[in-house]
Amino acid sequence: MDQQQFYDQLNDRMRRYGASPLDPARVITITASPDYLDSYDGQVAALVACNLLGRLSPSVQIGFPDIAIHRHLPWAGRSLVGHALDGMRAANPCGSYGSRPLAAGDFRFHLGPDGHEAVVHGSGWNAYIGPGPSPLPLVASGAGVGAAMAVVLGAAHLFRTRFGPMTDSFACNVWDWTDIPERVEFSPVEASLGHVMTVGLGSVGSAANYFLALATRDFSASLIDHDRVGIHNITRSPIFTDAHAEMDLAKVEAVAAFLRGAGVTNVAVDPAALHESARWRLRESGSIDVLISAANEFNVRYHIEMGFPPIQLYATTGRNWQATLMRHVPGVEACSLCLFPPDEKFAPTACATDGAAGPQMTVDGERADAALPFLSFAAGLMTAAEVLKLTAPGYPFSVERVMLGLKGQPQLVGTPIPHRPGCLCEDRHTGVHKAAIDGSRYAGFASWARTRAGQS
Ligand SMILES: [Zn+2]
Repeated sequence: MDQQQFYDQLNDRMRRYGASPLDPARVITITASPDYLDSYDGQVAALVACNLLGRLSPSVQIGFPDIAIHRHLPWAGRSLVGHALDGMRAANPCGSYGSRPLAAGDFRFHLGPDGHEAVVHGSGWNAYIGPGPSPLPLVASGAGVGAAMAVVLGAAHLFRTRFGPMTDSFACNVWDWTDIPERVEFSPVEASLGHVMTVGLGSVGSAANYFLALATRDFSASLIDHDRVGIHNITRSPIFTDAHAEMDLAKVEAVAAFLRGAGVTNVAVDPAALHESARWRLRESGSIDVLISAANEFNVRYHIEMGFPPIQLYATTGRNWQATLMRHVPGVEACSLCLFPPDEKFAPTACATDGAAGPQMTVDGERADAALPFLSFAAGLMTAAEVLKLTAPGYPFSVERVMLGLKGQPQLVGTPIPHRPGCLCEDRHTGVHKAAIDGSRYAGFASWARTRAGQS
């Protein structure tokens, strides 16, 4: 494969989305305030910026001095610049990535509360992009997720405006998903999460696991997906590399290797679709604490809902530059089939194995999961942020659905998900569902008070 063929495949999904790649002649240089780079939040910002911008552009330079990776991050003690550069080159071996000071003509992507006319800054659960200095309250306990969100917002701005200046400011928090920064001291760093099962390890599922691992390695991961890594998957996932695509590696194996390398010791994989996965079908009751349901194919939501799931968290990317976070708590809130009714021809008796169900478009008889890199990162980050809150007192902090729009100035909109009359969940037996999640760590969030008539 020559370089042009590689880039054609690398940028295929971006083009199908209707967007064109950034001008490779324009060098992006990532700089950072020294104090910020010493902190956990600052290093999360640096790692995510290198990862995302390196996938968005083939021309990225690291303009901050090297430093040892923070003790609360995976890869602690290693060279931050070396690790970030290795990652960028692994994703795109044809790109031009290096480390040098800012030069005339570069587009400067600056991380920190101040130090440049426009800043990308996250602290705790808050994120800010715009003119410096940052107005965010300084939160002592690092959370990482605010910093990562600031980078996603900054990357979206860069891409949308084609290297335009960051003259308008935007601040938000990823705690209750509003555009008002909050002083939240809860830190998810090194939190114990329990057993996290991810169904669907495409861009969103892999990104969710990436962001979880930046915060904590104290969880068991089960990964279920039948698909393999292709070059067209690389730009939207923070984990997939050119070598994975060369090897035709199963997506679950690529994510498992990443998690193990980051220090997550208990990782199990099943390279199968959910309805064929013994890990799902033969699981013991209460054995999964939270389900990241990031798959769309094979009528997967039907199989999930009919399998009496624990709390589900996931996010989708949309056709209009948005990422939408969803939560389904057993008993209380609408199920995922209330939101995504099963396709008539598959529901509920038909055997859905051709993968055509779902809201996405079809190209060449295949599902084209078109999206932009920062949208998939946003969806994975929103999912991970929500999983990381599960251990915080008082959860949940937002309505069941939160949309982040990045088409213009960023927008955050929360809306409840109504129950859909006639949904299959009406016939789901409450007693069986209770028993199925009994003993799981977050079963306490379930409330069966609104259970519909005819059940006990
Ligand atoms: Zn339902």
